[in-house]
Amino acid sequence: MPPPLGDIAHLGHVQLRTPDPDRSLWFFTRMLGMTESGRAGESVYLRTWDDYEHHSLVLTAHTTSGPGRTALRTSSAQALEARVKALEDAGLAGTWVEDEPGLGPLYVTQDPDGHEIALYWESEWYEAPPGLRPGLKNQPQAKPAHGVGVRRLDHVNFLAAEVSPNAGFAHHVLGARPTEQIVLDSGRVAAQWLTFTDKSYDVVYTEDWSGARGRLHHIAFATDTREDILRAADLCLDNGVHIETGPHKHAIQQTFFLYVYEPGGNRVELCNPLTRLVLAPDWPLITWTAKERAKGQAWGLKSIESFHTHGTPP
Ligand code: FE
Repeated sequence: MPPPLGDIAHLGHVQLRTPDPDRSLWFFTRMLGMTESGRAGESVYLRTWDDYEHHSLVLTAHTTSGPGRTALRTSSAQALEARVKALEDAGLAGTWVEDEPGLGPLYVTQDPDGHEIALYWESEWYEAPPGLRPGLKNQPQAKPAHGVGVRRLDHVNFLAAEVSPNAGFAHHVLGARPTEQIVLDSGRVAAQWLTFTDKSYDVVYTEDWSGARGRLHHIAFATDTREDILRAADLCLDNGVHIETGPHKHAIQQTFFLYVYEPGGNRVELCNPLTRLVLAPDWPLITWTAKERAKGQAWGLKSIESFHTHGTPP
């Protein structure tokens, strides 16, 4: 029996490594409209205008690109305790650290593929400084007057040498629910989408054709509207940001998307999934076959080759 949905409240933040920290910072602040909320060592902490927490992205200067820590907030101190016990019972014991601004202790471990995963409960609510205060008290920060104005970190798509053990980890140890998947004719799961919330997905595991471990396919930020994504494509075009594919609509999960490479090489998706929720407690896992996938995306756009080959670190 998987644990009840709800011990993990939501995706908190992701750490991205970049070999081009200045240009990456330019991309996330000037292009996406994120706000810097702190710096420590080689890292810059960034937030979207609707983040209630200190940060949802940590940008860390490094020799190469790729994912660092992915942190998930639990729904209570008891839920954190329960998930830590489940991790230890599953042979995935981690260590406690307290090394991020605005957050209490984090329990740091790894998924079976080697991605660093952290769980935490304590989180200081963000207080906007003068100049960033919103007009309405039920919003953490004023909307930016420039860039795309991304609203929140929406999901993380991990590459994994094998999907099933990692999706199983998210399901059976963390309590996520699988909502959609791709199953090849051989019976092998090529990708699976899972949710911790009533969003239709928060985390995705996708098969890494290179066979490598611990890599990233993309992180995604949600915008308020589809129109924001069309505007984002124009901004990227005007500013020399590499557009990989889109705008278009995914068949799986029906997300309206644009994929770009931030200057450090990491793939970033701008997505608009806001109208789609999974409220049914008995939602049946939807399976897509290789033949169905060959039809392309929702409106017929074929998957671009680099979508199957580009991951970070390279
Ligand atoms: Fe995505």
